[in-house]
Amino acid sequence: MRGFGAVHELDCLLCHRRFEPGSAAYTCPDCGDEGILDVKYDYAKIQFDPLSPRRRKEASLWRYLPLLPLDKIPPLSLNVGWTPLYRYPGGGFEGSKGGCKLFIKDDSRNPTASLKDRASAIGVGRALIEGAERIVCASTGNAASSVAGLAANAGVPTAILVPETIPQAKLAQLLIFGARVIRVRQGYHEAYRMSLELSRRFGWYNRNCAYNPYLVEGKKTVSLEIAEQLDWSAPDLVFVPLGDGCILSGVRKGFHDLVELGVLSREPRLVGVQAKGCAPLVKAFLENRECQPCEPNTLADSIAVPLPRNRLKATAALRSSKGTMLAVSDEEILSAMRRLGRELGVFAEPAGATAFAGALRWAREGRLSGAETAVAIVTGSGLKDVAAALQAVEETPVVQDFAQVVELLAE
Ligand SMILES: *Cc1c(COP(=O)(O)O)cnc(C)c1O
Ligand SMILES: [Zn+2]
Repeated sequence: MRGFGAVHELDCLLCHRRFEPGSAAYTCPDCGDEGILDVKYDYAKIQFDPLSPRRRKEASLWRYLPLLPLDKIPPLSLNVGWTPLYRYPGGGFEGSKGGCKLFIKDDSRNPTASLKDRASAIGVGRALIEGAERIVCASTGNAASSVAGLAANAGVPTAILVPETIPQAKLAQLLIFGARVIRVRQGYHEAYRMSLELSRRFGWYNRNCAYNPYLVEGKKTVSLEIAEQLDWSAPDLVFVPLGDGCILSGVRKGFHDLVELGVLSREPRLVGVQAKGCAPLVKAFLENRECQPCEPNTLADSIAVPLPRNRLKATAALRSSKGTMLAVSDEEILSAMRRLGRELGVFAEPAGATAFAGALRWAREGRLSGAETAVAIVTGSGLKDVAAALQAVEETPVVQDFAQVVELLAE
């Protein structure tokens, strides 16, 4: 099969057997579903000009086409990527010694309001090339609404499996996009298993990021953008929320590509942030042992993953970037949501504010030096989970007369 751009081969994370692009279905046949593949490029073949005006006119992730597993831009009219990078105003960025620069990468500004659109753009693009009859996906919500929106845009039918407890807004998005949605009582883990079975049995294209190796390549465009928005320099630290670990793996891949191409001279340190109520990889990483599944208890539903599917890729990414992991409480997440809203006007869902909560913690612990530049990625919009947002704020008063209004506003 053609159309893989500069992809050279696929490398199994477990046994390191190598495959031609297109030869392995999704994962390594020797290692099964756990044998997740890593996409390797022939960097010598990539023609990428960071300063080319023609490339920079493309205000979407397609400005990085030479670094993606596609030969040409797929027929999608939705605009994915090239989201804003804001300087955090820094008011009371406690603990940061002498004004460290913190930037917020606002990926809630994607067509379906989460970073997942970057992966779905590649997924839908590849599904079109492969002539897929349907795209199947299991998701805690955002990957589902994302693939539903992009597949609708491309005219490809979907089959979407979500946990029974998916937040209403995400379900509404899916249904408005016309997706075929099935809610699974046992939750994400079982939904995931069933989605793999559907792909195997019916040959439908699978858009699960910890299964289909090409999707992380879409997620990496967030790093390509960050580097470009910082005038082709690498920040010192990037804070990333972690559920399955695909975003973190993608973030590392993007910076790695730029170092391989000689555009950057080093990669940033990555800090993976989980919610305390579901932090299996934090414990495993810090204690250097196998990841044990946990019983999730956090309002950050998008990262409430009992056993991160892409933990091997994410752990390798953390190690090679000399990065680390930390866990933040739901109170810290709610506080981070308020601060993003009040100090920047950015509305994040709980998982979307988790990286920023991690950055705040890092600063509070005095771990940021004044000369450093840090980025926190906001991965999803607060409109996705309004019930959670309402937990972060106070109730509003109800009045009957104007005098009361004046009285309240004088407080
Ligand atoms: C999916 C998601 C994450 C976590 O991404 P992984 O690749 O599963 O680690 C974080 N935040 C939001 C808003 C998401 O939708
Ligand atoms: Zn293998």
